[in-house]
Amino acid sequence: MTFADPGTAQRGDTPEAREYNRVRRRLSILDFLVGLALLAVLLGTGWTNTLRDWAYEAAGQRYALAVFFYVAMLALLSKALTLGLDYYSFRLEHRYQLSNQRLRSWIWDQAKGWIIGLVLGAVVVELVYWTIRISPERWWVLAWAIFVVLSVFFAQIAPVLLFPLFYKFEPLDNQELRERLLQLSDRAGTRVREVYEWKLSEKSRKANAALAGLGRTRRIIISDTLLENYTPEEIEAVLAHELGHHVHKHVQKSIVVEMAITFFGFWATAAVLRYAVNELGMFDRLADFANLPLLALLSAVMSFLIMPVLNAYSRHNERQADSYSLRAIPDVAPFISSMDKLAEQNLAERNPSRLVEWFFHSHPPVSERIETARRFAARHTHAETAEA
Ligand SMILES: [Zn+2]
Repeated sequence: MTFADPGTAQRGDTPEAREYNRVRRRLSILDFLVGLALLAVLLGTGWTNTLRDWAYEAAGQRYALAVFFYVAMLALLSKALTLGLDYYSFRLEHRYQLSNQRLRSWIWDQAKGWIIGLVLGAVVVELVYWTIRISPERWWVLAWAIFVVLSVFFAQIAPVLLFPLFYKFEPLDNQELRERLLQLSDRAGTRVREVYEWKLSEKSRKANAALAGLGRTRRIIISDTLLENYTPEEIEAVLAHELGHHVHKHVQKSIVVEMAITFFGFWATAAVLRYAVNELGMFDRLADFANLPLLALLSAVMSFLIMPVLNAYSRHNERQADSYSLRAIPDVAPFISSMDKLAEQNLAERNPSRLVEWFFHSHPPVSERIETARRFAARHTHAETAEA
């Protein structure tokens, strides 16, 4: 939902941007494949049963505690296998002068991220096996409902509780800019409580902004890297895009889309698990949590296959938000210059190949977004001339 997504990579102009984004893409694919390989090996060799037995022993044969130990071992194994790739990503950001994070701070972030992932992952897995035990036939419907509630809940509290674990936030000092941004929000019909400065520069040279939270926690977040280098008009253009997401109810629509997709996902997972237990005899019973790698493998493969569809949907939403932004600001020039600056600062590809865009990009290419703005401006000027 963010304005410029630094998490996804983009081919195009400078050889530098092309190379940086190519390496980033390869790293994320490799990371995904290593994860799949781990799950496949655990299942294929039967080592998952050994892990389960260890977990039971460590837990004094208590089921729920054993599930937690099993998840913890899986998380440890996975981190041990992908830590090299993570470190390579860290070095890559430095090589392209996109990061100034110290190694110690990075290690600390990795540790925090791992612990949060373990806690959230354990909660989900405990709930899934709880539903399997209370309703072996219809567990997936209940598990799906719990999953939807949890993911909506976490998406809302993440900006308030999780982001501050990694970054500092302070109420925006610049009162004039704060007023301008709050007025822009009012015109979009959203009640924003506060504007926060996101201290991103301690770790990164990239820039970003977001409208986060719901109700009492709704807030505008603007990185200090953006505040430093962009004019108030450019910052307004960036925020107007975020407000476009709000006006078009993209959060609510995305939740509905995800509900539909995960409903099918849980159903398919349950069907495969039943087949693996009843027909193939891979596990003694459904509630044997040694089958967790099978569930994880299925969800990873399905997420991968659905990615182009979700990205296409996201690009559609981004175009709508851009369109709102162009209408909400008095002049399109700051929109175009902010796009240019962001692409430059984040080393984004302005013209990725069709295939890369189709599969990996949650945002339309910068070149296209600028072109749309130019066309909008041209139409606008023509209309005015016609009226005069
Ligand atoms: Zn957006």
